[in-house]
Amino acid sequence: MSASPPALSPVVAGLWRIKDWKLSVRERVRWIEQALELGITSFDHADIYGDYGAEALFGEALQAAPALRQRMQLVTKCGIRLRAASRPYRINHYDTSAAYVCAQVEQSLRNLHSERLDLVLIHRPDYLMDAATLAETFRTLTREGKVAHWGVSNHSASQFALLNRQHPLVTNQLELSPLHMDALDDGTLDQAQELGLRPMVWSPLGGGRLFTGEDEQAVRVRAEMRGIAERYGISLGTLAFAWVLRHPSRPCPITGTGRVEGLREAVAALDVSLDAEDWYAIWTASKGHSVP
Ligand code: NAP
Repeated sequence: MSASPPALSPVVAGLWRIKDWKLSVRERVRWIEQALELGITSFDHADIYGDYGAEALFGEALQAAPALRQRMQLVTKCGIRLRAASRPYRINHYDTSAAYVCAQVEQSLRNLHSERLDLVLIHRPDYLMDAATLAETFRTLTREGKVAHWGVSNHSASQFALLNRQHPLVTNQLELSPLHMDALDDGTLDQAQELGLRPMVWSPLGGGRLFTGEDEQAVRVRAEMRGIAERYGISLGTLAFAWVLRHPSRPCPITGTGRVEGLREAVAALDVSLDAEDWYAIWTASKGHSVP
């Protein structure tokens, strides 16, 4: 089963770190406007980001400038019960029950001052997920007009297939970067390509480790990539995005930067066509050995 995917922008902006940016409402509005001007129209959230507070920070900006809403796609996630002052669970755990998913979708709608979410993802695979029941929840929320599309994040290929057979999913949001390449081998990107469903890619800069990591792998990859970036006349950040974008599953990388210049560097990668040898040189530096 497959669904017609939502029109996400080729580079997506992630709001995981919005609380750290310490922007006023006016500055948040300006940041969103500048992202839109760069062609970044999709914004990636999760109910739990910023100790359950990130969506509301973005929502305040939308409340201050409501016309922005029609120019963007809102993506959010739910399914993790994360301990917080307001949520004193005994332990962190996953919950994909109808009651919890519905409650979190309602909460996201309120936080984001929106009547509809363009895409909602199940954040992590819930080992207690009943696929048929969850699919029924998806159908209910779609019928009510609250959620346009559904997807998952961090699901294995078989976990994706299990749920996708019950309800069409439009993406699997996965980690991929020059520092983290599991998705190349674990079947998730193969599945995305087979189904023609563009994966969303998180932490394309390794969460910043590409620039600041002092471990052997980060130092090795950075040195290799600096040489390649210089040859292409682009920044290290742009090269990392170009490396992700080169994959044939046509990923939509999610930038996590709070800086408009950082957004610009991400978008610049759309104009870079990375040679296969350079792509493999980065793979080789990451693994610490040549291809077999
Ligand atoms: P990332 O783009 O790999 O890392 C962003 C970090 O790198 C920021 O702290 C940024 O700081 C730093 N950075 C960028 N350019 C830099 C430079 N030139 N020098 C030094 N540091 C630099 O992405 P991410 O934030 O880890 O993840 C992106 C998004 O993916 C998140 O916002 C979230 O939406 C999503 N995500 C999803 C999952 C999931 O499980 N589905 C997990 C993690 C993240 P500046 O702000 O200073 O640029």
